[in-house]
Amino acid sequence: MRKAIVSSLIAIFVSLNINAQTPQDLADAWDTTHITDKEPSDVRHSDLKVYLEKLRVKGVKIGEVGRSNAGREIYQMEFGSGPLKVFLWSQMHGDEPTATSALVDIFSYLATHKDTPWVKDLAAKLTIRAVPMLNPDGAELYTRRNLQGIDINRDALDLATPEARLLKWLQNQWQPNIGFNLHNQQELTAVDHTGKQAAISFLVVYGDEEKTQTDGMLRNRRIVSVMKKAIETFIPGHIARYGDEWTPTAFGDNFSAWGTPVILIETGALAGQKELYLAKINFIAIMTAFSSLATGSQATASTLPYDTLPRNASGTLVNFIFRNVQAAPNGKKPATLVDIAAVSARRRASFTTSIRLTRVGNVNGLRGLEEFDAGGFYVVQRFAHLIPGKLAELFFYKKDRVIDWKAEDLTERFEPDAIFSAGAWTKGAGLLPKILR
Ligand SMILES: [Zn+2]
Repeated sequence: MRKAIVSSLIAIFVSLNINAQTPQDLADAWDTTHITDKEPSDVRHSDLKVYLEKLRVKGVKIGEVGRSNAGREIYQMEFGSGPLKVFLWSQMHGDEPTATSALVDIFSYLATHKDTPWVKDLAAKLTIRAVPMLNPDGAELYTRRNLQGIDINRDALDLATPEARLLKWLQNQWQPNIGFNLHNQQELTAVDHTGKQAAISFLVVYGDEEKTQTDGMLRNRRIVSVMKKAIETFIPGHIARYGDEWTPTAFGDNFSAWGTPVILIETGALAGQKELYLAKINFIAIMTAFSSLATGSQATASTLPYDTLPRNASGTLVNFIFRNVQAAPNGKKPATLVDIAAVSARRRASFTTSIRLTRVGNVNGLRGLEEFDAGGFYVVQRFAHLIPGKLAELFFYKKDRVIDWKAEDLTERFEPDAIFSAGAWTKGAGLLPKILR
């Protein structure tokens, strides 16, 4: 008898928990099911097609819904047949790629697990449509704008681009209940004044300048709260809230105005982590949002985690700081100790980065993602003087060496002890002590 009670209790417990995918479950699921194998910034339109072919084999419904300015196919994926209509789009800015890979892995997961109870339930409650890589021409060139040089996200009213016309049409003819607008922000975006990178920033996007609170906004605040809680153990302290200025020509704002309240997700960067890691974090966040919409658990969630998110901040982080630098004594004036700050340009993962000096002298108020103590060294700039705007190609010489600083072929006659080039130590790695914070 007791055995029967226990087993029926277990049965009840199990049935109550068919939808209880913990964030860790989702993280493990991504690890075992993700089909993306390139860093998102290296994914071209042709790579996306390879991903989508794999999804087709898994049974995902995929259709071409339009063409870019250069005639590249734009696709929409669909899953489920439920009454709640969920719409997502990514990479309307060509150089903002992370969520495209996340969407591919989300649909891969859904197709692979379509017979598991919680995914079945999801499919019965939601219909999910997603456009990965809305701006394939920009993605090809790795530029923000489309081939006409127009920012699609400022074209919601003019509709001068084929991509904007498509996006508006997809909203208009389907009237989704909720939208997810998926972007990347600068890697040096910080969480308020913490000095930490904002790896993920959220925004519940208003539908008017007056920031009118609607039921849809309230629901989205709860959903972002659920997403924030799901990912905070993976990226503690690296989650922020995006600025909420009303942009009358942007799509997020207009989707909200047109009846599809939008959640904006901006992926930043996390020093020491690959881009795909943040695609995984997107996966966990978005799957959690789907789950909370399907089970209805979002209805009783608190909005507090969203309402209390720290704000995005800019201008406080740089990629590199070299402290206590002394320029080599080849000038007339004795060199003073200075600090050097350098920043990296947005680029594809497989491309060599160009690092530029951004400040020489006083770096007060800045924090480097990596900082080095150059106190024991003289530094020579490879191409020019130490001037902001120049490439950070830096040769370091130990101060106790005897060197003819006026030698024409200085760096050939006197081999530097350490060389910092294209954002990495190509010689003498570890020689300058790291400053840990
Ligand atoms: Zn963007």
